[in-house]
Amino acid sequence: MSIQHAPVHRADFDQVMVPVFAPAAFIPVRGAGSRVWDQSGRELVDFTGGIAVNVLGHAHPALVEALTEQASQLWHVSNVFTNEPALRLAKLLTEATFADRVFFANSGAEANEAAFKLARRYGHETAGPEKCEIIAALNSFHGRTLFTVSVAGQPKYSAGFGPKIEGITHVPFNDLEALKTQISDKTCAVVLEPIQGEGGVMPAEQAYLEGVRALCDQHQALLIFDEVQSGVGRSGQLYAYMHYGVIPDILTSAKSLGGGFPIGAMLTSERIAQHFGVGVHGTTYGGNPLACAVGEAVLSIVNTPEVLEGVATRSALLQRELMRLGERYGVFEQVRGMGLLLGAVLTEAWKGRAGDVMKAAQEEDLMILQAGPDVVRLAPSLIIDEADIHEGIARLERALARLTSA
Ligand SMILES: *Cc1c(COP(=O)(O)O)cnc(C)c1O
Repeated sequence: MSIQHAPVHRADFDQVMVPVFAPAAFIPVRGAGSRVWDQSGRELVDFTGGIAVNVLGHAHPALVEALTEQASQLWHVSNVFTNEPALRLAKLLTEATFADRVFFANSGAEANEAAFKLARRYGHETAGPEKCEIIAALNSFHGRTLFTVSVAGQPKYSAGFGPKIEGITHVPFNDLEALKTQISDKTCAVVLEPIQGEGGVMPAEQAYLEGVRALCDQHQALLIFDEVQSGVGRSGQLYAYMHYGVIPDILTSAKSLGGGFPIGAMLTSERIAQHFGVGVHGTTYGGNPLACAVGEAVLSIVNTPEVLEGVATRSALLQRELMRLGERYGVFEQVRGMGLLLGAVLTEAWKGRAGDVMKAAQEEDLMILQAGPDVVRLAPSLIIDEADIHEGIARLERALARLTSA
């Protein structure tokens, strides 16, 4: 028996959904590779990758196969039992990274929640209750639970929800001196995104991350890298920390890890993992067989030279084209980021108008993102065709031509 669908429209959103989002005027219904079709059959080029999620584009045959094969076998058994896809994915992750141990969750926020709780537990058990302070970067983003918004410390996300979680301080990103003055033996963890995503696509400087690692070691503080956005090939390496050669104690991954199926993971060492003993933390869905089967397929495909090397080629092409448009229309003054997480920074005259650029692009059948009001962000599929890049850029050019002549 198949379920009969009642017709729905964009206007229904404003009637039935909690209004925390303001989605675009159209509703996507189907995707293939880096193209998406809406209800009216209009075709769009997708430079958003579902905000750094659809790492292999839409409806990749290997992911469809992994999901449907698992769907006919076993969906869920709870963590009273383990399951094969979770064990296989955990093995892939530990073989490919610094980590020995994995905790699965369903989202980036939950992976970070686990990371922050683990860091505090570790501090408590190794040095006592005083060692509970967490230092994070200004302008960072770690998710929307109360702990993660407290750590990110952006008032727009954390104000107005009653008392925040205490013991968290914030320092400017890429400023080692500022961290030096904050860090102490009470610090249990320093949390950073190696490339700040939501904060404007801002990569960490090499010397900064090296200096942070040394300060953490000096004060027995754990270094946590939030790679929810920068991870799983987006930087051109499996994880961005590999570019820097700076190894964290805890790493969180989500977004691209499921290629569009919800999953999150916290990776850590054997030594630190021991502080999360039986019953200390948990989850119902984390490690779900469907999610892990898809994650296994994603990782198997992304962590290959073909895909990772292809990121650099595509990145160079996109950067070159964005700079060309930027100069021609006077809109972008710089393109920054790494691999296929790119931010085109608006010029002084265009500051604050990333939303307008995004909307104009949509009107030209192109999906793009913003990262704050001053940065246009692209996070496409890692295997986007060169032809799709050229077509997307042509559409962006039409949007910019229209905007700048208005
Ligand atoms: C998106 C994001 C998160 C939150 O992930 P969710 O899956 O939305 O909970 C956390 N950290 C970073 C760096 C992100 O980009």
